[in-house]
Amino acid sequence: MNNAELWQAALGEIELSISKANFSTWFKNTSIVSNENGKVVIGVPNGFAKEWLENKYNTYIYKAIRNFQDDVREISCVICSNDQLPRQETRKIDSVISTQQNEKSEAAQNAGFAQSSAHFHHSTQEGININPRYKFENFIVGENNELARAACYAVSQNLGKVYNPLFIYGGVGLGKTHLLQSIGNEVLAKDPTKKIKYITSERFANELIDSIRNQTVNDFKAAYQAIDLLIIDDVQFLAGKEKTQNEFFHIFNALYQINKQIVISSDRPPKAIATLEERLKSRFEGGMIADIGKPDLETRIAILKSKSAEKNCYIDEETIRYIAENIKNNIRELEGALNRIVAACEFNKKLPTLKFVQQTLSEIISSGKKKGIQPQDVIAAISQYFNIPVKELIEKGRKKEIAYARHLAMYLMRSELNTSYSSIGIQFGGRDHTTALHAFEKIAKDIENDDKVKEDVAILKDRLYAI
Ligand code: ADP
Ligand code: MG
Repeated sequence: MNNAELWQAALGEIELSISKANFSTWFKNTSIVSNENGKVVIGVPNGFAKEWLENKYNTYIYKAIRNFQDDVREISCVICSNDQLPRQETRKIDSVISTQQNEKSEAAQNAGFAQSSAHFHHSTQEGININPRYKFENFIVGENNELARAACYAVSQNLGKVYNPLFIYGGVGLGKTHLLQSIGNEVLAKDPTKKIKYITSERFANELIDSIRNQTVNDFKAAYQAIDLLIIDDVQFLAGKEKTQNEFFHIFNALYQINKQIVISSDRPPKAIATLEERLKSRFEGGMIADIGKPDLETRIAILKSKSAEKNCYIDEETIRYIAENIKNNIRELEGALNRIVAACEFNKKLPTLKFVQQTLSEIISSGKKKGIQPQDVIAAISQYFNIPVKELIEKGRKKEIAYARHLAMYLMRSELNTSYSSIGIQFGGRDHTTALHAFEKIAKDIENDDKVKEDVAILKDRLYAI
């Protein structure tokens, strides 16, 4: 297989695992420019593609190539010079803009309307894309979020004067966007002339590319500098995008110096965003940092009561408790479950009794065990994912990659099937139960700190449940 054939084959795999828009945006006009001693170098048309491929898609590329060439160890990208790819470069950027505008961002979905393609400089006020539904009044306060809520509220009452920048972090679906947008709504309610900009960091990066293409970078920056409150959601997506971070840093500084308010959210604290520039990290750390944790049972119950009342759906105490006890991860899932119940009640013309709710939610609540997944299925999924024969997973080899795969298998058996540690030990060639326990604890900890592990676990779970 020559490099061109290898890349075609790998692209075929990658295409299956990422969205169409992302695929055409980032993989168009790429090629393998060298492939020696396990080091594969991909030629890309510009710095943005390089950043995305190296940071976001590195694992996909690695896995795809490994299917066809098993000695691959390292993937890197180089920008092919403009005279090598002069026309493709412009065409590529065109396609970046158009595909990205077609893809609805989470921000647009949050805001409840389709994303407008209007450029920022003529949409400062009408394009604020803040969802009026996200308010402090309908944000339920619990121990998990009270600090974050208090900080956001304080900021909304004293723009630029307390806590600047304000940095809110927490896992998905825990209410970051809701809180951030509540600040915007509160400020606008008090003073509709205030200039507010809510944007996700991904969208920020896209608008920046847009302005580079249109040679309107200066307008882009000027528009930002006229803002009273800048809200950047999900800043973790700036990780590794050096150019974007650089522009953001300048905008940030300019606003900060004239006491304009900046509010930022992320799924993790600034320290933990691996490739965030030091100077940005220290800026973030110089302000106020508040986290949002997972809601406890009482808070989940309070949220369910408030949301079901909003939907005019009366659910009795016992049933509310059943839902809250079973859906624990985050509030988005809790809302999803509630929506499902409301829809099922309407459709079947039934009341949300405990029994009906149990039936309705059985699919989402059921564990791997209930779905009939067996320990062998976990081992098979791991073996296939890492391309390691089952025998090697079970035997006592200590090779690093095999050990990692084995730990993941043990982790999933415990977390998804609730298999006892001793039984896990036995299934892995008669190991001691403490080995299984350590494996579980190690992976559980790594999921928190290492994105690669988190991603592997997520993909493996998807595959298990897709059976
Ligand atoms: P994140 O941005 O952290 O991923 P969101 O802000 O999008 O999470 O929250 C997910 C959903 O849960 C939203 O519909 C939001 O209104 C709701 N939600 C989150 N936290 C609360 C809360 N404390 N009270 C009421 N609704 C909440
Ligand atoms: Mg969000």
